[in-house]
Amino acid sequence: MSAPLLNVNGIEVIYNHVILVLKGVSLQVPEGGVVALLGGNGAGKTTTLRAVSNLLAGERGEVTKGSIELRGERIEKLSTSAMVERGVIQVMEGRHCFAHLSIEENLMTGAYTRKDGKGAINATLEKVYNYFPRLKTRRGSQAAYTSGGEQQMCAIGRALMANPKMVLLDEPSMGLAPQIVEEVFEIVKDLNQREKVTFLLAEQNTHMALRYADHGYILESGRIVMEGAAKDLRENEDVKEFYLGMG
Ligand code: ATP
Repeated sequence: MSAPLLNVNGIEVIYNHVILVLKGVSLQVPEGGVVALLGGNGAGKTTTLRAVSNLLAGERGEVTKGSIELRGERIEKLSTSAMVERGVIQVMEGRHCFAHLSIEENLMTGAYTRKDGKGAINATLEKVYNYFPRLKTRRGSQAAYTSGGEQQMCAIGRALMANPKMVLLDEPSMGLAPQIVEEVFEIVKDLNQREKVTFLLAEQNTHMALRYADHGYILESGRIVMEGAAKDLRENEDVKEFYLGMG
């Protein structure tokens, strides 16, 4: 079997030199896969994504043990921009659009590292609008005045503007109505299948995530307590009881 695109191997993460949050997390993401990282509030999902995309330093956090490899290359000491150059983009929880910019200006900020010229960037913009027709309609609107769903779409669209290989998606369903959540997940599926974008998505919405992912990991208090094919996790009695609310 070929090496996974992403290999997180036994990482520990400590915030502020003292708070141990991840206690030996290992997970793999195959190229072209959709992998869900599940767990409740404070389990360590965001921290895991930050460790991969190297956003920990800004939070006074660091990986103190273990390793993270992208296509076999150790990446835990790389900068966030070096990760962007390698095609790894994080879409943060809470969406993080620039409120005062228009939807289109927000999208264009995602292309800031690209060196392949205006024509190629405009072609990506058109592609993003094809995936998210709502964004095209709202292209001139200030992000602050768009809906939560539109802002989530804008955040994903902005990540796509960088031509990513892998998107780390943090709680895409948060605060959205069920119908919009479904719309967002359908687009994730399309992007995975048609554009071959690999996804690692952190979700509390286990039910929805396991419908769209191929594989899932369940985090509890900084440790992976269960993993498996999404279809097996959906049928697993413990998962049903503790995470799907149908025990
Ligand atoms: P949520 O769904 O609530 O975002 P999560 O599974 O993503 O949860 P994390 O945000 O990774 O969990 O948080 C894991 C633990 O790390 C929590 O106890 C949290 O309080 C702590 N933590 C997160 N960020 C920091 C930080 N910058 N400084 C100190 N502690 C932090």
